Amino acid sequence: VRREATPAYPGGIEANGERLWDALMRSAEIGARRPGGLSRLALSDADREMRDQFTTWCRDAGCTVEFDRIGNIFARRAGMDESQPAVSVGSHLDTQVVGGRFDGVLGVLAGVEILRTLNAHRIQTRRAIEVISWTNEEGARFRPFMMGSAAFAGVARLGDLLNSRDENGVRVAEELHRIGYAGRAPVGRRHLDSYFELHIEQGADLDSSGIDVGVVVGGHRVRGMRVEIHGQTAHSGPTPMEKRRNALVGAALVAAAANDIGWHYAPLGRSSATQLKVWPNCTGILAEFAELTLDFRHPEPAISERMASEMEAALTECRTRARVEINIAHQWEFGVEFDPECVALVETIAARLEIPARRMQSFTGHDAYYVSRVAPTAMIFSPCREGITHNESENIELARTMPSVNVLLHTVLAQANR
Ligand SMILES: [Zn+2]
Repeated sequence: VRREATPAYPGGIEANGERLWDALMRSAEIGARRPGGLSRLALSDADREMRDQFTTWCRDAGCTVEFDRIGNIFARRAGMDESQPAVSVGSHLDTQVVGGRFDGVLGVLAGVEILRTLNAHRIQTRRAIEVISWTNEEGARFRPFMMGSAAFAGVARLGDLLNSRDENGVRVAEELHRIGYAGRAPVGRRHLDSYFELHIEQGADLDSSGIDVGVVVGGHRVRGMRVEIHGQTAHSGPTPMEKRRNALVGAALVAAAANDIGWHYAPLGRSSATQLKVWPNCTGILAEFAELTLDFRHPEPAISERMASEMEAALTECRTRARVEINIAHQWEFGVEFDPECVALVETIAARLEIPARRMQSFTGHDAYYVSRVAPTAMIFSPCREGITHNESENIELARTMPSVNVLLHTVLAQANR
């Protein structure tokens, strides 16, 4: 049997796909609910078990492990020059309620694989290397999402985050203590040389193009808004149509108008109505209040801006048609441009390894967005089958994943030894 020609990696240093897969499949046992998927909510028992497994692996690989007050985990492989900050890699180990096995997990466990590969080759690096697991990236149980990296970057106040409650009223701080990950290290005082995050694409561009490595230059500008709709409760029977001020109907019109804007700017533009709260939400009662969350995105920041202002303009007709008050209670935006030097390094390394790669943008938020505010950052995407994610059928092919793991490995090596 002829082996397929593999690119010659510098020094023969190549990540071990089988070993990485074993780690991914061990992770896939922790918090498995639906077959093929993961349900590993932040700070749950399953999260604790995975954190314990991750820290054990890192200690076995010779790392010192520290966690900070929001439970971010830093596993450090010492460098020859400990006066220099560490080159870091990482992502998250928590998942959505119905999540997949690779979203986030791949980036952290690829970090573990890098430690193991360097150990197998007895390589010492000039700068230390750190593998980071950020707390609660998904935001499925505790809001806001990207909690650990937000605290690290100083985007949100630690006290507020520790007080965030899940739907049963349990606080983040309590759960961190319960699972043993309320660390003593101050949040965000850690100086990182740079940060590289490998993540599945969560889109289908790489999968369909046959290219295995995405060099992520940044993230699409997302414009989000929370819209409040005020109507009047009334019995649904006796109230004539012209007297109705149904907040639910107002919200429905807003959702439909937002969707129309997405279609207008498709395929590059996307708009989403994602969350609706209705009060009192009772059968037979017209709603007095509704709250709707919307977001608008486009690769061109100016166009996502235009989509948002078209939404604002469209509210006038929604008000009139539903005879309700509508106001935008809160607006936000996020988007990011990664560090040009880190991006260029990833690209150069891919070229050196003769691995085809393409530049692309991210459609979803990642911890790297926040980390990029405090350290030079880049991301690498690997293909995920048909772009399916946040779903138990999320899947990857190892043969199409290893190119980006090796690009990550050699990027970190080059960065740590420069
Ligand atoms: Zn993720």
